[in-house]
Amino acid sequence: MISFSTKYSKSFDFRAILTNKKSNLSKIKSFIDIKSSNELKVKAYNNKAGFTFVSEIKNNKFSNLFFFNVKENLKDFEYQELGGLIIQESLKLKKESIELSIDTLPNFLVKENIIKNILIGMISRGYVFDNYKSKKNVKTVKKIIIISSKKSLIKNCTKYALNICTGVFQTRDLVTAPANILNPAQFVNEIKKLKKTRLKIEILDEKKLRKIGMHALLGVGQGSNNKSYVAIMKWDGGKKNSRPISFIGKGVCFDTGGISLKPARFMEEMKYDMAGAGTVTGLMKTLAVRNAKVNAIGIVGLVENMPDGNAQRPGDVVKSYSGKTIEIFNTDAEGRLVLADLLTYTEKRFKPKLMINLATLTGAIIISLGNEFAGLFSNNDQLAERINKVGYKENEKAWRLPLNQNFDSLIDSQIADVQNINYSGGAGSITAAQFLQRFILKKTPWAHLDIAGMAWTKKNTKTIPVGATGYGVKLLNRLVEEYYE
Ligand SMILES: [Zn+2]
Repeated sequence: MISFSTKYSKSFDFRAILTNKKSNLSKIKSFIDIKSSNELKVKAYNNKAGFTFVSEIKNNKFSNLFFFNVKENLKDFEYQELGGLIIQESLKLKKESIELSIDTLPNFLVKENIIKNILIGMISRGYVFDNYKSKKNVKTVKKIIIISSKKSLIKNCTKYALNICTGVFQTRDLVTAPANILNPAQFVNEIKKLKKTRLKIEILDEKKLRKIGMHALLGVGQGSNNKSYVAIMKWDGGKKNSRPISFIGKGVCFDTGGISLKPARFMEEMKYDMAGAGTVTGLMKTLAVRNAKVNAIGIVGLVENMPDGNAQRPGDVVKSYSGKTIEIFNTDAEGRLVLADLLTYTEKRFKPKLMINLATLTGAIIISLGNEFAGLFSNNDQLAERINKVGYKENEKAWRLPLNQNFDSLIDSQIADVQNINYSGGAGSITAAQFLQRFILKKTPWAHLDIAGMAWTKKNTKTIPVGATGYGVKLLNRLVEEYYE
């Protein structure tokens, strides 16, 4: 999809010329004269949108020239947005090939973090999911030719951007797939395919889960014909015997709510109630393909929550992997039941340095934070601060909400150790987090990201087309890169 050249082609239907006030544009005189190009450069620089556009006919070829203004000292995600803008404009013109001129930038802007983020934005915005369309979407960018004399720098940046985006796309593909296709067993198959990235894969089936006592997780899936699984992805890129960091994902492949059935309207959205598991899978893929120098565990609980004669009832009591008993008040508060077992299991078996779980856990978080911030909960200030900080860099933001003993007591059960929801006291997202915290037995540093408002976008953003966002892959990859490698 991406290739390199040092020369401009004679004709091209979409040229993106990266410019700056200090650019010398003599290099592009083969297809546009210096005077016009300088005028366009000035216009791009002064235009609020950051680019100008001209179409011209030369040698009977139609040529679209875009001059994009590249400013200094932008945040990383702003360079990604610039990349997204390039793709957005090419899609408007239905152009499948882009020639991207980096050679026109002054040297001080041809820096690794600028180029790789522009490319991440371009690739990310160019994502298309048309697997089930009989007529394939013509509005895609199939080819990007990068014009630059700095071949090795450009190659490194491209490789990096592709490594990030392959994880993001893995997540988006999983999140977009409907539940009749991506059931827990199929999700397991998709994870097994990642063996080729040198991730080690281990699958726990129902027989094994029953044996080790993951009854909280199993209870969620017992009303479905689709069997439940836990999948473990292991990446050993760090020092031998150094404790791993761990990522834990909620993978409810479809959530009807179970016997506490959801209303019909928008229930179709519950195909993406596995987005936490989707993000963990995509993240592990990115860590593997970019050969991250870290030991990491990804673990996902894959179940389907259905109403059925065998389904779990409100009022049932189950015994979790931790030994704690849970009274199920609402079968639609099921994600936390899956995560409860995974958290205790991960802590006990892998003794990780830290645990970060991701889940489309509560509708209440969308009331609080909309589609701008994930809810962030943590028992560790340093970890929470780090997540918050990298979130701003990647524009995958997370806002910390409190945990507190008084919230915790709202989920005390009368007949069991804990109940899975509180009907009085409000704070639905916080009490869900309190519930999860009860299953961390050894005070391992932990963060919970409630991504219910972040996994899907109903409108195009600057770097993401309508649909699954892949939220969390860039965020957590960056976290690993900056603090744990
Ligand atoms: Zn639910």
